[in-house]
Amino acid sequence: EISSSQEAIQLEDIHGAHNYHPLPVVLTKGEGVYLWDVEGKKYFDFLSAYSAVNQGHCHPRIKEALIAQAGTLTLTSRAFHNDVLGPYEKYITEYFGFDKVLPMNTGVEAVETAIKIARKWGYEKKGVPEQQAKIIVAENNFHGRTTTVISFSSDENARNNFGPYTPGFIRIPYNDLTALKAALTANPETVAFLIEPIQGEAGVNTPDEDYMMQAKKLCQEHQTLLLADEIQTGIGRTGSLLAVCGNCSCEGHCEKQETYVEPDILILGKALSGGFFPVSAVLANNPIMEVIHPGQHGSTFGGNPLGAKIAITALEVVRDEKLSQNARALGKVFRERMELLAGKSHWVKLVRGRGLLNAVVINDSPDSSTAWDICIALKDNGLLAKPTHGNIIRFAPPLVMNLEELHSCCDIIEKTILAF
Ligand code: PLP
Repeated sequence: EISSSQEAIQLEDIHGAHNYHPLPVVLTKGEGVYLWDVEGKKYFDFLSAYSAVNQGHCHPRIKEALIAQAGTLTLTSRAFHNDVLGPYEKYITEYFGFDKVLPMNTGVEAVETAIKIARKWGYEKKGVPEQQAKIIVAENNFHGRTTTVISFSSDENARNNFGPYTPGFIRIPYNDLTALKAALTANPETVAFLIEPIQGEAGVNTPDEDYMMQAKKLCQEHQTLLLADEIQTGIGRTGSLLAVCGNCSCEGHCEKQETYVEPDILILGKALSGGFFPVSAVLANNPIMEVIHPGQHGSTFGGNPLGAKIAITALEVVRDEKLSQNARALGKVFRERMELLAGKSHWVKLVRGRGLLNAVVINDSPDSSTAWDICIALKDNGLLAKPTHGNIIRFAPPLVMNLEELHSCCDIIEKTILAF
């Protein structure tokens, strides 16, 4: 039993690896948009576990699904069938409009899976010579922490001393179609372009409106697969079901929507389980997914009935509660309020984002502590957010927030920043 925040922090400090630098707050309870620390102080959550709890903390429907399934069957491995996987695969593929899904657990595993599928497709379908496959990625990408994935990171802190690195990746600037075209032309053995439709970890870098659409066209012209990493942007976060849906905020799959950019491979994680359990997924159509045969890829927990049941329910919640539409409406209000604040405080340099994935760039150098200090003050005032890349604060509350709560949060942010 933990009796104080200080005690919990000390235990982590002594017994845990120091691979994170958390804000000094120890949480014990969550409900909807709220979190409580062990001393009983209540906070608005403005991070949503890096967009994994879009449905709000401890959503009652997802909780019920978890409890029911946990008392029935949790894990069989894929050595046998289970009676939830098939219904889940039908549900998620229809939901997002793809022929097939390959179920995994964490986000980075899904990214690794997509890379493997794309390479295999390249050798077997595109005819790329053995060992020559290339994948184009963007500067400042964040796709996770495995050895292969950090091999193509441009964040030296994430890469240093973890080599030797996996070869076969070409990095180009984000939001630069000329660079993409040049890389595709110079490298005919390219099998895929792996991209975040909005770069979350890099500080909510939002590209030009037509970036994904034009990137898709270039990929098609060069027989290259478009791999959309929507682990952070997907499932309602940016005011549409997926960021690649563009300006459509319907809660289902609608291919006919003009602004929809269909990825060849769609990568999902985080909110796919509403924060209850690690569930990730890789979606593609048959001509691509059929390159994978038994024994070539898998995971002990991938496709387990507990995760499958949770994911079905988590997706139902997004649709039934119209979370994309809510994120779109509230995101607009949030940016308007922050723009107003920018007029009053020289600390607010820039406001950007889409839906409820937003960032405020603090007017100080990336190695200053101002953004961190603001986050500490926000915490003291009852709102939890975290800086990314030094001087950027990401604001991403659960999508179940209502307008009144959002205004209360904007009041807290305004009061806090104006005191600086
Ligand atoms: N891809 C993107 C875009 C992410 O934002 C993240 C996590 O922040 C990942 C991949 C990695 O997911 P996980 O931490 O579940 O491995």
